[in-house]
Amino acid sequence: MGTFVFDFAQGSKEQKDLLGGKGANLAEMTRLGLPVPPGFTISTDACRAYLEHGSEPVGLEAEVDAHLWALERRMGRRLGDPKDPLLVSVRSGAKFSMPGMMETVLDVGLNDHSVVGLAEQSGDERFATDSYRRLLQMFGSTVLGVPSDRFEERIEALKADRGVASDAELVTADLGVLVGEFKAIIEDHTGDPFPQAPRDQLRLAIHAVFDSWNTPRAALYRRQERIPEDLGTAVNVQAMVFGNRGEASGSGVCFTRDPATGATGVYGDYLANAQGEDVVAGIRNTVPLADLAGIDRASYDELRLIMSVLEHHYRDMCDLEFTIEDGHLWMLQTRVGKRTPQAAVRIAVDMVDEELIDLDEALSRVTGHQLASLMFPRFEPDRSRRPVTTGMNASPGAAVGRVVLDSETAVEWAERGEEVILVRKETAPDDLPGMVAARGILTARGGKTSHAAVVARGMGRTCVCGAEAITIDLDQRRFRIRGGPEVAEGDVVSIDGGTGEVFLGEVPVGHSDVVRYLEGEHVDDPVAAGVGRLLKHADALRRLGVRANADTPEDAARARRFGAGGVGLCRTEHMFLGERRELVEDLVVARDADEQAAALRKLLPLQRQDFSDILAAMDGLPVTIRLIDPPLHEFLPDLTDLAVRVAIEDERRVDDPHGHELLVAVRRLHEQNPMLGLRGVRLGIVVPGLFAMQARAVAEAAADRIDLGDDPRPELMVPLVASERELRMVRDQLEEVVAAVAVERGVELSIPVGTMIELPRAAVTADRIAENADFFSFGTNDLTQTTWGFSRDDVEAEFFPTYRDRGILPISPFESIDVQGVGELVRLATRLGRDTKPNLHLGVCGEHGGDPESIHFFEEIALDYVSCSPFRVPVARWEAARAVLARR
Ligand code: PEP
Ligand code: MG
Repeated sequence: MGTFVFDFAQGSKEQKDLLGGKGANLAEMTRLGLPVPPGFTISTDACRAYLEHGSEPVGLEAEVDAHLWALERRMGRRLGDPKDPLLVSVRSGAKFSMPGMMETVLDVGLNDHSVVGLAEQSGDERFATDSYRRLLQMFGSTVLGVPSDRFEERIEALKADRGVASDAELVTADLGVLVGEFKAIIEDHTGDPFPQAPRDQLRLAIHAVFDSWNTPRAALYRRQERIPEDLGTAVNVQAMVFGNRGEASGSGVCFTRDPATGATGVYGDYLANAQGEDVVAGIRNTVPLADLAGIDRASYDELRLIMSVLEHHYRDMCDLEFTIEDGHLWMLQTRVGKRTPQAAVRIAVDMVDEELIDLDEALSRVTGHQLASLMFPRFEPDRSRRPVTTGMNASPGAAVGRVVLDSETAVEWAERGEEVILVRKETAPDDLPGMVAARGILTARGGKTSHAAVVARGMGRTCVCGAEAITIDLDQRRFRIRGGPEVAEGDVVSIDGGTGEVFLGEVPVGHSDVVRYLEGEHVDDPVAAGVGRLLKHADALRRLGVRANADTPEDAARARRFGAGGVGLCRTEHMFLGERRELVEDLVVARDADEQAAALRKLLPLQRQDFSDILAAMDGLPVTIRLIDPPLHEFLPDLTDLAVRVAIEDERRVDDPHGHELLVAVRRLHEQNPMLGLRGVRLGIVVPGLFAMQARAVAEAAADRIDLGDDPRPELMVPLVASERELRMVRDQLEEVVAAVAVERGVELSIPVGTMIELPRAAVTADRIAENADFFSFGTNDLTQTTWGFSRDDVEAEFFPTYRDRGILPISPFESIDVQGVGELVRLATRLGRDTKPNLHLGVCGEHGGDPESIHFFEEIALDYVSCSPFRVPVARWEAARAVLARR
């Protein structure tokens, strides 16, 4: 066994770390005895070593030589032999699929001599010349860095000169002209002639594939897909087979089930007389795979059989790339296929019914992110609405936005806050930034396996592709729709990735079928039913409780329908936004205790009603009511605005004593850093009676509900505690009030009192804090803000993009918990808290409570529950179960 290079016959599908996905699966197909052209894989270890040192690791060259020699013996041909040459393809293949992001070089081994041998052996001079032309073009642009336009321009010029429309109409002599011109272009650009020695070509192609791991577009794709930066790619060197040897040859891409909907059946595209790259690039329009049955029945039947073998072997939907060379079928790639979230659910539950997998496996195959995207809105049904055109439903969703016609414009407009739809003839890897920036993607060419479709599905972007009635005019910045209107860049369009329909203008969006199903409506949709079935299984599996963050009875009721086991965070300050804001204003500007008491008296009945309604919506389930936590700036007028208003009033001699009082108070309370100011427990201590009023409102609301025969379960939570003294002081007060209400109302009230842990000091002293707490709820939003010293309101827009680009942070710590830093504080506080009180109840109510990756961490440290926004509740139930499965 070598160190860096492995024959296809040596590996297996389990070795993706070492051989990359493509290499591992080529090895697996070889082991299964499927028709795979022989070859070998250079490992990701070799790539990492190369990238680290900038040169090949010692021994790689000799290993490649040995494997090449073995391959030559097997094929009975030598690489680049002048009489009967072996040609090879050199393809990238990382552990995780990165479609079109890295390099491929085909036809390596051709030169001025072997091209003659190839022509003789194949009896087809045009084919041989065209292959050489392809090598020069691909090698020139990917290995030698010649701008690809320089080659394209020559092809276009020659076609114009010969008066032909397609490459296929160029004759052998024309292709010979191109070969000469391409060699000149290469020499002109690099200063050296095209390398004629086949072994040099191979070495340089391998280096180019290694290097392509670090291109900006590959790096962007990895960030988008959260693929680690340091994996490197493997390189597959494989004997060439040719799909471009006439009409009995061709290439295709297919899926064993529909990657858009998950329906059973055969899906794919086939292109006669073409190489695989031509299919994916959407250069010529493909035919549906089923048409192959009429073209080459034997190959079609063999392919169907292989599809079935692979699907049963992988127990999953696979995608395949194949080439037919003169009626002989060859498999060039397979992998577990990318699919839309819809298809992921449908395939998983169908495979349970087909007894290929069990429910645990089904659940582990569909991520919480995928479920979340199934809950995104979709267009409101309306029979009278007519599409202006229809393409293929390549990646579902409902996207509305302004038309942009290139990637740069998409990025630019999105950066200034516009929602955009990227409309292209077809997409290429260079379009990736625009695809990331856009809400949806619409192309005129290409099938469900085109670059646009595959990448959009991977990213969860809405995509309609192959809308052939569209012709784009980049000069005029507009597109035409055959038999329909013209659409200018900037016009609004709506695209439905579920149906392929394209509408002019903005189409209203509503709840998805999955949401309606989860809300209890009758929905006839296999995906929604599948989600329901898997959620039921998730509930049986999961250990973590799931509660909701809800401040209104409507949200609480929805969360309950979505399966929440209570409210984990009711933010009472939200009850004072809108028209009640003035009441808080009165409270904070009050000059003395009497004025404060008067303001509080006005608030009490309103709060009582608020709490009663939420307790009713969550009857029998816990409702954690957090005492008011307003950063004051959210409630008071802006100091500058107010000062200007008062100054203008004074100028006009308007009598406004309240304005003056307010200005004095706002000046007094003005803070440079309100998020670190008078908020949370600090406010409760500084403004006497505020927390007591809220505790009374909660206790009275509970008493009211008990009188009505309900089973209210409120809990009181104190925000922004840093010291055990703060909590003790407040707790005593709250308990007094609750006890008083119990006596007044003649009911038994037991209301647990707990605290948020959202400051590093609280986490570090959690053992002491636990003495006065019945529960902890981790406020990971503030804990992230205060641990990193990042303003949660500003930094994501300010400098995170730079941090992400520089690789300092792969993802915002406000989105996914920073396990090493913030997570460590949560882990510490969990341990300290439980040291003091083994049965201390522990939850999390920051945004991370609904984030799939973070939920796995909360499972690992054995919190009792997570709490998240109502729409995230199903996702949290789902992911909590997947976290259990992942730890098995
Ligand atoms: C938190 O800080 O994580 C939290 C839940 O509280 P808020 O977002 O209201 O500050
Ligand atoms: Mg907070």
